[in-house]
Order: sequence, then C-alpha cells, then structure tokens
Amino acid sequence: MPDVDDIQDFTQGALSTMMQAAPERSEALRKLFDDHRVRVRHTSLESFRQGEVVDPSPSTIMGVIQFPPVMHTVAWLLAHGGWEAMRNYGAAIMSFHLVGAAFSGGDIEAALTRFPDAARCDEIIDCAVQNVHGVEVPPPAWLPNISDTSEDPDTNRQYSAVKELWLIAQCWFFLHELQHILLASEGEHFPDFRKEELACDERATAWLLDGVDFYSDQRPEEPSDKVRGKRAMGILVGLFCIGFLSDPDGSPSHPPLRERINVLLGQVGAKDAAHFWHFAAGLLFVLSRDRKSSQFPAFARIRDIVLLLVDMI
Ligand SMILES: [Zn+2]
Repeated sequence: MPDVDDIQDFTQGALSTMMQAAPERSEALRKLFDDHRVRVRHTSLESFRQGEVVDPSPSTIMGVIQFPPVMHTVAWLLAHGGWEAMRNYGAAIMSFHLVGAAFSGGDIEAALTRFPDAARCDEIIDCAVQNVHGVEVPPPAWLPNISDTSEDPDTNRQYSAVKELWLIAQCWFFLHELQHILLASEGEHFPDFRKEELACDERATAWLLDGVDFYSDQRPEEPSDKVRGKRAMGILVGLFCIGFLSDPDGSPSHPPLRERINVLLGQVGAKDAAHFWHFAAGLLFVLSRDRKSSQFPAFARIRDIVLLLVDMI
C-alpha cells in the first residue's frame, strides 16, 4: 500500500492532467474532487482488472480511482501510434476513398510497403497491445519520450500534438472513473453493469466535447473543429486503453469495445472534427483482426469506412 503522501501526490497530478486537457473544466473538476474527496491510487494491472470485474468496486464508492501506471506507457504508445497511423494508413485510406473506386486492405498495405513509417507505426501499436495485455515490452528505442523536443519546428509540432493526445486520453480515463464515483454518490444504480460502463463513457466524452465551442470562442487561434478533432482522437486512444484492460469482446461487467467506440462516434456525430475520421480509420485499420482481407465499397463516406472498421476489431 502506498502511504498517504504518495496518494495525495498522485491525486494532484491526475487533477492537473485533467485541467491541462480541458482547461475550461478546471474549476468544476477541482470542486468535484474536493466534494467527493476523490483520490487517485496507483495499482497493478492485475489488481485493476480484478477491481474492474466488480465495477463499481467498493473503492469507487469510497472515491478512490485505481490507476495502473502502465496506462501512461500504453497511452503514450497508442497516441504516437495513432498519429503515425493517421499519417500513413489514414492518408492511404483517404486517397483510395477519394478516387471513388472500391479497394481492399491488401491495396492499402501494398501502397505503404515502401514507407518505413508504416512499419514503425505497426511496431508502436503492437508494443502498446502487448503491454496492456501484461507483457512488458519496452517502447522502441527510436520513440521520443514525453518530454523530448526537437530542433526541427515541424517535428516539434508533431511531438506537441501527440503529447496533447496523451493528456486527453488520460483525462478521459479519469473522467470515466469519476463518473462511477458520481453515480455511486447520487445513488444511481444500473442493474446491468455494461449499461453503467456505457453511461460513464458517454458522460466522460460529453465532459470533453461539450466544452469545445466555449473553449474555442476564447481562443481564436484554436478553431473548434481542430479542438473537437483533437479531443475526439485523444478520447479514442483512452477508450482503447480502457477497452483493452477489459475483454475487448465484452464480459458480464463490460460491453464489447466495438459498442463503446460506436457510442463515441455517435457523440462526435456530424460536427466538423478536422482530421478525427482519418485518425480513427488509420488506428482502427492497424488494430483490425484481418486487415488484409478487408473490403471497402466505393463512394462510402470516410465515416462509413470507420464504421466498417469498428466491426473488424
Ligand atoms: Zn468503468
């Protein structure tokens, strides 16, 4: 058991992560943490999984969010991998889609065989999947650290974008767990745990997406479509982290990951979300079960392609 000081320290760290990811929620978040005496405690991956099976666990009811520190690594790998997937697989999917002819997963792979970045992106995402399954694989040596900066302004912009996705993914994880605490304190019970999970997902996502216009109105340099897209990308990364911690095909306590992703896609809806859809297409393609044999019909909208891919993970 960590001592009280450790617990306090990590609680403040978690809260500051959330405030950085959603500055417009800062005051509300601090108030909720104070009112419900929320604490964030490090836990092992195994203990976290055991707690999740009986979610909402007694610790949730007592206002303690269990956080497996491996989430830092997994979210970093997936944020970086998702970004690379968008620039490689997502871009290839977009170009086939714009040509207007049907194409297959094999066509996408063939188009990228000469791009070493595509192979790197597979390597990062594979490393994330192994770590979340409890196999400790170190991140590739060439992967930048969270605090790294580059002398090249364009590379630096990429690093900052990935770091933001990482912050949002973690914020979403905490927001999801926070919703369990709020439900417990309000005495709202779901006879089916899976429904509670979906409700917590939906509310956590709404916390991040509903504030976008308000946030952008105060920052003309950050248009709402870009902010919405970036947040939705971070949420997708967070959802994958959480979804992989439970059984992706679903269990009595957790809905299948596909169902959870579809809730997020519905919440992004038809609002302009910049590059979110081709980020989602790239990441889902890399994570799909049998991507080479996938078939995409002509003239589908990019979101139809994403919906097809959700069924393939
Ligand atoms: Zn949950």
